[in-house]
Amino acid sequence: MKQFTGIADIRECCAGWRRQSLSIALVPTMGFFHEGHVSLMRRAKTLADRVVVSLFVNPIQFGPSEDLAKYPRALDRDRALAEGAGVDALFTPAAAAMYGDGFQTKVVVSGLSQGLCGASRPGHFDGVATVVTKLFHIVAPDVAIFGEKDFQQLAVIRRMVADLDFNLRIVGHPTVREADGLAMSSRNTYLSKEERQAAPCLHRSLTLAQNLARQNGASQKTVTPREIERTVTDFIEENPGFAVEYATVVDRASLAPAGKIDENSLLALAVRVNGRVRLIDNAPLLD
Ligand code: AMP
Repeated sequence: MKQFTGIADIRECCAGWRRQSLSIALVPTMGFFHEGHVSLMRRAKTLADRVVVSLFVNPIQFGPSEDLAKYPRALDRDRALAEGAGVDALFTPAAAAMYGDGFQTKVVVSGLSQGLCGASRPGHFDGVATVVTKLFHIVAPDVAIFGEKDFQQLAVIRRMVADLDFNLRIVGHPTVREADGLAMSSRNTYLSKEERQAAPCLHRSLTLAQNLARQNGASQKTVTPREIERTVTDFIEENPGFAVEYATVVDRASLAPAGKIDENSLLALAVRVNGRVRLIDNAPLLD
């Protein structure tokens, strides 16, 4: 596996592959790899001849009071995991290389970026769309893989690619979970032992919501999206220190709150744990 920090160097490497008619898959990440990341890399191997993983803790997608400085980092371990997953090139640019003096351009996907995570993280998806645009221009991949765990991010990127005519395919990859159901995340490392033990309540609440939604039609009473949201919120907040930021049944394409439950309904969750750690998860209500 090759590692590049310079934009011109990774660009040259990718151009060489293209000259040999080799297709390229890109997996954008912020590092501190877990099985979710590795699963995206393995998927990428099945979709293209060469796999590029970018590892960049993107400063412009963090708010001023967020965890940029303490975001977990483990480059040597990440390098070994990427190599083990068959990655061909790891791109680890410095922030100064990505955002040079005088940088002032922003990519904004206006509607989809606003609700849900965008409401409590203003500017977050502008930062994501901007860095992903840069990575797409630098690597010029044929396909890019994103996790469904960050479903709003995936929706924003898909919209951006369609609106701005990027010539690549976006592939969503299912959420990879710990044995107890907790969605894998680099931020799980912030959880204390007690918090970690309680954290699978997010996944259990998704299962609870799916069971409620599936009863629709089978019984006289129809459960509404708002009832599901209330039930899920109460279930999660039974755990000391767990506060629901949002639990919303949305239409999976528009991300607008759903008026009724159908095949397009997705339950999206963001939960703050003791004000310190923010966990997200989501699942379709009917599949
Ligand atoms: P991050 O390093 O957290 O920015 O994540 C990089 C990519 O991995 C994003 O596309 C995420 O959606 C994806 N990802 C993170 N956690 C998971 C997971 N548990 N399952 C699947 N994909 C994930």
